[in-house]
Amino acid sequence: MKKLSEFLSPENVLIELEGTDAESVIKELAGTFKNINKDVIVERVLHRESMDSTAIGHGIAFPHARIETGKGLMIAVGKSGKGIDFSAFDGNPVSLVFLVVWQPSTPILFTQLFSSLIKSFRKQDFRNKILSAGDKKEMVEILSAIKIKIIEEAEAEIVCTASILRKLQELERKRVVLKRKSPKLEKEIETLRSDVNNDYLNRFDRLIKRCGTAIVDVIDGVCQGCYMNLSTGLTNQIKYKNHVYICENCGRFIALKED
Ligand SMILES: [Zn+2]
Repeated sequence: MKKLSEFLSPENVLIELEGTDAESVIKELAGTFKNINKDVIVERVLHRESMDSTAIGHGIAFPHARIETGKGLMIAVGKSGKGIDFSAFDGNPVSLVFLVVWQPSTPILFTQLFSSLIKSFRKQDFRNKILSAGDKKEMVEILSAIKIKIIEEAEAEIVCTASILRKLQELERKRVVLKRKSPKLEKEIETLRSDVNNDYLNRFDRLIKRCGTAIVDVIDGVCQGCYMNLSTGLTNQIKYKNHVYICENCGRFIALKED
């Protein structure tokens, strides 16, 4: 377990945000990061935001982007008494904004952070505590109650990738069936693709082009893409649901069937 405060220092806390719209507060928060190209951060985060609002309800927004920073996970937090329009699905203004930037090599930290944040902010008393924090130090102290479960990085990256690739494949099929461009579908695909590393994406695209399917199930040691038996060594490795491997015969991504 790690504490959220391990990734957040008082200098990245803004007790009262000046901006009243998403773009200006994202700039303010990015401005608290030291020795880093803030323009790139702002650009990428706004791009992500344009695909889909990152407001998660309860007056909280979670703008984020995956950027090669060399610094792992970076967080900045700001509060707003006035409320900020974040195009939230519930229509409510946002009073707490978490800006999160993470390395492509640490996607799991991000996923875990995200689920920890959602869990903590479901509790109204916790939200109230944060909103009443009077200074930066107090804010960091309260937020340090949020614990982030850490799974082994390499394994966890693969776990995320398997379910994203399955979803991407489903959307690619929809794309073929639709026969025309749907902006909503394209947006959904783009959002998902932004969370997968390029090596996987390149392979995925090649497979879709060549075989029509990129990720298939493994059932009883048989790849459901080429229907060949996998080697015993590989079969023995594939024991965790949702881990992705590569078929030795056809080169497709393979994973145990999802429930
Ligand atoms: Zn195969």
